[in-house]
Amino acid sequence: MSKTMTREASKDFVRDAHGEILPIIENFYSYCAEGKLMGIKCVGCGEIMCPPRAICRNCLSDKYEWVELKSKEN
Ligand SMILES: [Zn+2]
Repeated sequence: MSKTMTREASKDFVRDAHGEILPIIENFYSYCAEGKLMGIKCVGCGEIMCPPRAICRNCLSDKYEWVELKSKEN
């Protein structure tokens, strides 16, 4: 076996045509592999969704941004 994959190349996020990281479970796991717990925040209403969804369950908006979720509170 001669895998020549570098660490940087191993994080291949699935992106759209504009280079945006898509709100799909594959990318959620890619973030997890980096030690980050990430969720999707709806730009329309501020709903946080984890695991991510392409469409907001609250207002059905498809505008989103990735946010890192804090998990060190307790
Ligand atoms: Zn929303």
